[in-house]
Amino acid sequence: MNKILIVAEHHDGKLNPATARCVSCAQRIDGDIEVLVLAATPDAVARAAAALDGVTRVRSVAHPANVHALAAVLAPQVVAAAAGFTHVLAPSTTFGKDLMPRVAALLGVAQVSDLMQVEDAQRFVRPIYAGNALITVQAPGGQAVVATVRTASWPEARAAATPAPIENLVLEVALPTHTRFVALESGKSDRPDLQSASRVVSGGRALGSAENFKLIYALADTLGAAVGASRAAVDAGYVPSDMQVGQTGKIIAPALYLAIGISGAIQHLTGIKDAGTIVAINKDAEAPIFEIADFGLVGDLFKLVPELQQALG
Ligand code: FAD
Repeated sequence: MNKILIVAEHHDGKLNPATARCVSCAQRIDGDIEVLVLAATPDAVARAAAALDGVTRVRSVAHPANVHALAAVLAPQVVAAAAGFTHVLAPSTTFGKDLMPRVAALLGVAQVSDLMQVEDAQRFVRPIYAGNALITVQAPGGQAVVATVRTASWPEARAAATPAPIENLVLEVALPTHTRFVALESGKSDRPDLQSASRVVSGGRALGSAENFKLIYALADTLGAAVGASRAAVDAGYVPSDMQVGQTGKIIAPALYLAIGISGAIQHLTGIKDAGTIVAINKDAEAPIFEIADFGLVGDLFKLVPELQQALG
């Protein structure tokens, strides 16, 4: 019988939807699914995790050291809680990518990354070559499978008819002191989170400046969307790097994606492969983005975006 432990990702006392997507992946592995919540005050997050269909139990750990999600501090706790589990999963987000290699190293196993499909409890399909090819990998038997889940490939688990039980856990584990929280500097935004938003508006190199990116922000606000960017826009300093979409940025799956002044390089398309409807605005009718776009507007973005904004507003 498989026993699957999912490490919950949460921010500001709210469960990140990425965790619900991990639950869908875990359901394909087949087995008992438990969610581990590590926080200073985990109650609200634990309740949200317990309400997900398929979850059989939530293990809730309240510890002041978990007030900030430091991978070095969380990893030994995950390892302690994972005793007896056949699988340990976390989303393939910045959180999971930081945490799970440490968990795998502490357990002495190799991590399996970016689960897209589950063939059986040991065999998984994952993307390689920037998503241009898929590979089936087999984890060795007789040891825990530590894996990250490509959240864009899985739907969010639905709400359960009855919530799963929550068990408060006290872990006897020495926490490292070599890593401590100093400060968090992040762009403050009231916009939806890029990785879980249902609508995303992204701008590319064609915007030409940080100032011009205001066009993208305004359109996003009208649509209630998150804002993303191509790597060229990030490298040029128009926007911070946490807004980058693509192979070396965020992999997203919004219902609606608007690519504005973005050519559609393969490394960018990798990040939006699972998006629902893709709309592109580009002045070059031959731009590769139009090959995957459901709707395309050929023209100057500085003319079309304000017109679109007005039509929507
Ligand atoms: P460009 O390719 O320069 O395209 C700009 C587009 O804007 C053009 O199509 C042009 O026709 C159009 N345009 C110009 N002016 C206007 C106008 N006034 N109105 C309308 N359209 C206009 N890229 C990513 O995005 N994400 C990644 O994660 C990523 N990872 C990478 C990893 C590696 C290892 C490598 C090698 C590259 C990676 N890249 C990534 C870079 C990628 O190859 C492209 O260089 C980048 O995506 C290009 O960004 P862009 O489309 O904004 O710029």
